[in-house]
Amino acid sequence: MSTVSEKTTTSKIQVKDLRKSFGSNEVLQGINLDVAEGEVVCVIGPSGSGKSTLLRCLNKLEEITAGKVVVDGFDVTDPKVDINEVRRHVGMVFQHFNLFPHMSVAENIMLAPVELKKMNRTEARAKAEELLTRVGLSDKANARPASLSGGQKQRVAIARALAMSPGIMLFDEATSALDPEMVGEVLQVIKELADSGMTMVLVTHEMGFAREVGDRVVFMDGGVVCEEGKPEELFGNPQQERTRDFLSKVL
Ligand code: ADP
Ligand code: MG
Repeated sequence: MSTVSEKTTTSKIQVKDLRKSFGSNEVLQGINLDVAEGEVVCVIGPSGSGKSTLLRCLNKLEEITAGKVVVDGFDVTDPKVDINEVRRHVGMVFQHFNLFPHMSVAENIMLAPVELKKMNRTEARAKAEELLTRVGLSDKANARPASLSGGQKQRVAIARALAMSPGIMLFDEATSALDPEMVGEVLQVIKELADSGMTMVLVTHEMGFAREVGDRVVFMDGGVVCEEGKPEELFGNPQQERTRDFLSKVL
């Protein structure tokens, strides 16, 4: 397979001069980003700055206009790459949970392993139960999503993304749609994942969380990476006026 020979050991994610336009609107204007194995990168920035588009380019939910993206050894910009194979390596959790309402919690988690990986149902069920225990929902395997709280639904969505044993997890404002009292339980699950060594890119509005779990924080504005650094640097001593202005509004 051509994709295997392109495997890289230097970083888990490599983004080089990534550009993305919607019509004449260039929303990513040359993004460079490297994420090392086990690194947790938090992406912050104002609404419309291109954070979601960047994440979506990483697993080709968006067509890439120009530049290069290599994710878990796969060149996403290579037209020959098997995009389903890429997505098996990259788990994604969205603001809205997108659980299938007509399936039980366990069936939601089993779906991709059974359909894509051809795991048998017994094995997939055991894996689902193990993941539900990990996110603190071992008693909910047979529940329907509608009977769960928002925080529980998001924890199921995380378990579902983990069911494919991805090498990378992407989170796009995973707590933004939650009632405040449910944010903590979801952040706790994400933090445990970070502590387990998972490579992650998190778009978040939770500045305290970014500071606590991020190895690095990337501030995006207007489709570019305006500033990046260790959390204590970026939050404690921002260098760019635009970063200071943004932080003064959200902190
Ligand atoms: P953020 O996540 O930082 O709020 P987005 O990546 O969602 O920003 O959006 C960046 C810009 O791209 C916005 O101006 C938005 O309107 C535009 N955009 C995003 N998705 C699409 C799309 N599918 N079609 C057209 N424009 C889009
Ligand atoms: Mg967004």
